[in-house]
Amino acid sequence: MQTTKTKAFGTHAAEKPLEPLSIQRRTVTARDVEIDILYCGVCHSDLHTARNDWGGTRYPSVPGHEIVGRVVAVGQDVTRFKVGDSAAVGCLVDSCRTCASCQQDLEQYCLTGFTGTYNGPDKHLGAYTFGGYSERVVVDEHFVLKVPENLDLAAVAPLLCAGITTWSPLRHWNVGPGSKVAVVGLGGLGHMAIKLAKGLGASVTLFSRSPGKADDARALGADNIVISTDEAQMKVVRGTFDLIIDTVPYVHDINPYVLTLGISGTLVIVGYLGGLEPLLQTVPMIMGRKSVAGSLIGGIAETQEMLDFCGKHNIVSDIEIIKMQDINEAYERMIKSDVKYRFVIDMGSLRG
Ligand code: NAP
Ligand code: ZN
Ligand code: ZN
Repeated sequence: MQTTKTKAFGTHAAEKPLEPLSIQRRTVTARDVEIDILYCGVCHSDLHTARNDWGGTRYPSVPGHEIVGRVVAVGQDVTRFKVGDSAAVGCLVDSCRTCASCQQDLEQYCLTGFTGTYNGPDKHLGAYTFGGYSERVVVDEHFVLKVPENLDLAAVAPLLCAGITTWSPLRHWNVGPGSKVAVVGLGGLGHMAIKLAKGLGASVTLFSRSPGKADDARALGADNIVISTDEAQMKVVRGTFDLIIDTVPYVHDINPYVLTLGISGTLVIVGYLGGLEPLLQTVPMIMGRKSVAGSLIGGIAETQEMLDFCGKHNIVSDIEIIKMQDINEAYERMIKSDVKYRFVIDMGSLRG
């Protein structure tokens, strides 16, 4: 298969900084769309992958799965995109398309395993995929999203992961007017969860460790802010919420949050991957039919639904634009929760 040399930014090892490198992209096949990347959001998962926090990272690793750009080539069978269109790619670039999950538009739960935009098995070139910290990407049309024309392209990028990852549980648990939703952690995912839950008509509470974020949270649409380290404040909201979306990336005690669920409420974990510490206490769950659940990004149709909803309601991410060369500093700031509320890379800086 023919390939083209493409400029990218990535890392050769967990403990090394990201640096310029060169990757190969396939030339478009019949169903492919080739996109010049204009912007790429910086997700905490990029950092987890670059530093091998979850194990299994293959190096060199090129992260990035919040991609927005311009179509520069299409294969002969492509029907939904033409050269010059704006287009977006999120966390998925392939799946089997035939299993029970794929048939239900749940490609993220493909029973044979989906292909992630980075660090996934590349069915075309045989190795593994490289993400959006690069000049260009080539993706099967099925996995390419349409961007609403009224939205700012840079601020749309984070919708492709932070947006859909919070939208999917909001939709699955039927959030709407009258719902009481809480969000744990005000970062990239958290700030989108607030905006989207608000857009759906819910009342929204933010749980944060950071008192300095209260004004921002209100400006983003939160009706109430609870400082999670303040036991008195936590007590006031006991038994309140229908749905809690927990975006915290590292191990933390979820028991205090379970206590704030109402009867039949659900706490859905989208941030942390791993064993919970301290152990989850079952009594508060049993005594109120409460659930602790997990959720992974969202399917392609649901991602398009979210983008269209954002277009209609003028919802985008609050972003800080950075140059590709600033990515290592951005990762350090993200670890300190010093980002309001998503870094987006201006990919022009890579072409430079
Ligand atoms: P982020 O921008 O860094 O935000 C995380 C927020 O969590 C921080 O702003 C902070 O909020 C809080 N936090 C951070 N460290 C904490 C700690 N040690 N204890 C308690 N709270 C802490 O990260 P993100 O991009 O939103 O991603 C969040 C997590 O979701 C990451 O682990 C990422 O890998 C994961 N993720 C999962 C999916 C999925 O499909 N399930 C998709 C995308 C990302 P406060 O300052 O307000 O406390
Ligand atoms: Zn992500
Ligand atoms: Zn499948």
